[in-house]
Amino acid sequence: MDKIEFYVEPVPCSTQPIYYDGSRCIGCNRCVSVCQCDILMPAKEKGQTPVVMYPGECYYCGACVMVCPQPGAIRLEHPLMNQAKFVPVKE
Ligand code: SF4
Ligand code: SF4
Repeated sequence: MDKIEFYVEPVPCSTQPIYYDGSRCIGCNRCVSVCQCDILMPAKEKGQTPVVMYPGECYYCGACVMVCPQPGAIRLEHPLMNQAKFVPVKE
């Protein structure tokens, strides 16, 4: 059977929820597997950092960060509006 290759571009979005550190990521794709929104895709080459395919669909659940065996390889950045909710209210 012939090998079929296709290439898709990440869908552009004004927010960027996931940041990878390519020097720490081992490309195990655990973060890809755990994401219930299918936002992440494995890289074309085995062992490479995954691709953030649909950044605008992220739930910010943090599962991808929690499952990662490499500290600092993946970072979740909440949008500014979400971060504002974390500030304690002064009485
Ligand atoms: S934070 Fe949750 S929804 Fe967003 S990419 Fe990670 S696992 Fe998927
Ligand atoms: S789980 Fe961590 S080490 Fe594995 S591919 Fe994702 S970011 Fe890289």
